Amino acid sequence: MVLHSAQDIMQALQAFEDPKIVITTHHKPDADAMGSSLGLKLFLDTFGYRVDVVSPTDYASFLNWMKDSESTVIYEHETELATQLALQADFIFCLDFNHLSRINEFGDVVARSNAKKVLIDHHQYPQGFEDFTFWDDMASSTCELVYRFIHANGMDSRIDKHVAACLYTGIVTDTGSFRFSNTGAETMRIAATLMDKGINHVQIFDSVYDSFTESRVRFIGYAISQKMEVLREYNTALITITGEELKAYNVITGDTEGLVNYGLSIEGIKFAVLIIDRNKIVKMSFRSKGNFAANQFAMQHFNGGGHFYAAGGSSDLNLEETIEKFKKTLVIYKAQLNGN
Ligand code: 5GP
Ligand code: MN
Repeated sequence: MVLHSAQDIMQALQAFEDPKIVITTHHKPDADAMGSSLGLKLFLDTFGYRVDVVSPTDYASFLNWMKDSESTVIYEHETELATQLALQADFIFCLDFNHLSRINEFGDVVARSNAKKVLIDHHQYPQGFEDFTFWDDMASSTCELVYRFIHANGMDSRIDKHVAACLYTGIVTDTGSFRFSNTGAETMRIAATLMDKGINHVQIFDSVYDSFTESRVRFIGYAISQKMEVLREYNTALITITGEELKAYNVITGDTEGLVNYGLSIEGIKFAVLIIDRNKIVKMSFRSKGNFAANQFAMQHFNGGGHFYAAGGSSDLNLEETIEKFKKTLVIYKAQLNGN
């Protein structure tokens, strides 16, 4: 894989007199996906370019304070407009994902578009569909990469407090509030630079972590107390959620974010898994500690991927069958899950 410098990418962009730009990110975008997309959009806006953010699906409402989030074109709601924007674009920035399957049907449109595609991402094993690659799987977050992209071009002065707030949020959430192993000194320096831009970090934390609905908090309590199995033999904690339970607690987009982590907070647990029946698909989240690679597990058994310690996947089987398959698969990893 050939990596491109931030300057090369910016030069290619500026070779166009008035480039039309689309920024897209993975379905059900999280804070890093939305923060990096909107942060990059607001930065590119300062050049007067036409920039549209297209998300394959809706996003969590706790991110709707981000500037211009309301202008996001949701592909599944505005398919024609999103398609037109992608086909007419000169550049498509692909943020926080590296495989076209992560943007659902919009992937076919992006593949068809003659636009130059720029990947800015920190997940392992990129598919390689893009023309320009700005990629580092050691980066804490895509937001950190967007900052590095701007900084390497000597354009920090174009970062206002809105860009900074978007980028800071993705760094916070992808590092688990600066505590995961992907947090480096450089991450902290970048966060400090963004704080210097005048963001209100207390308000950001409040929006992301302390603005849950009552039913979301009760749902978390229910999931942990009633639906979590601790499989000591495998140092694994498993939470499973049915479609009925999602309805009973009025669970909406974003409400299950972070739920998988509770399993990992139990002493000795090395692998935490959340399995949710999402109607047509059974969605899975994986988190791990120590030497256990969550993304390998997701990739090899559940059509997924992600990072070493945080990954996701899905299953075409029904919920019960998926749980059964998961438990059977665990057996293969028994020794590894009992090691360090
Ligand atoms: P989450 O469990 O929070 O949905 O996702 C954890 C990490 O795994 C994220 O970095 C996300 O991008 C990645 N991920 C989640 N689901 C999938 C999937 O179905 N396929 C792939 N390749 N990555 C996923
Ligand atoms: Mn990310």
